[in-house]
Amino acid sequence: MSSLIRLAPVTDHVYVATSRRYVTNSTVILDGHGGALVIDPSWDADELAAIPQDLRELGVTCVAGLSTHMHYDHVLWHPDLGAVPRWASAGTVDAIVNRRAELLAPLIGDIPEELIELAGHLVPIQGPTLNWRGPTAVIHQHDAHAQHHIAVEIADLGVLVSGDMLSDLELPMPDWTDENLETYRAGLLLLADVAGRAERVVPGHGSVGFDVRERFEADLAYLDDVDRTGASTDPRVKLELNAELHELNVRRSARGAGV
Ligand SMILES: [Zn+2]
Repeated sequence: MSSLIRLAPVTDHVYVATSRRYVTNSTVILDGHGGALVIDPSWDADELAAIPQDLRELGVTCVAGLSTHMHYDHVLWHPDLGAVPRWASAGTVDAIVNRRAELLAPLIGDIPEELIELAGHLVPIQGPTLNWRGPTAVIHQHDAHAQHHIAVEIADLGVLVSGDMLSDLELPMPDWTDENLETYRAGLLLLADVAGRAERVVPGHGSVGFDVRERFEADLAYLDDVDRTGASTDPRVKLELNAELHELNVRRSARGAGV
């Protein structure tokens, strides 16, 4: 029997660890040569420490990291994962370099100081795919949930690691600069093709799902509804964690703006 602490298999070569906080997912993709890519490791110190322990149990070593976007819960790391390249979009790298104190402020008092110091040391991805020995990993960049946000598609495995998009739990959460949900809509639409072909989605928060296309359509329908009517029958609206977000989305929408 496996003695993995947190990692659970999703499909061949792909594992997910789900945090006790906000159903936050860390994704591990094996390269098939003894290496592992760790995407958005999170969140508490013991949970971060369990990822390298689990990699040892699997007989692999972390060869790279990746942050899907600049938010503090997606740029964490653990010393035992090693001093490997930690990739992000060029815009995310710039944002953390230029606004480190502001972006990481929510971590102060939340996790140990040494982990805050280790957070957000990222290098830009060069080109449309990751430069690694594992299965081809295609980068899909947009500005919906955050500026310079990326999703990672492992086409051969039918897996989309979507960052904070396509969640079954979280409503569309636009970047704070998005005043009317149009940037969110444009970003979501950039994922239409990949959402149509991927078989599994691993969201930043929520459940791993086979319903990739349905999640895409639900998010689009939600945006349409709040724009047209200022309301939505999406079941996620009733979740406590989305109450404030939904109110804000309505205010930002065409309906809320009185258009
Ligand atoms: Zn986020």
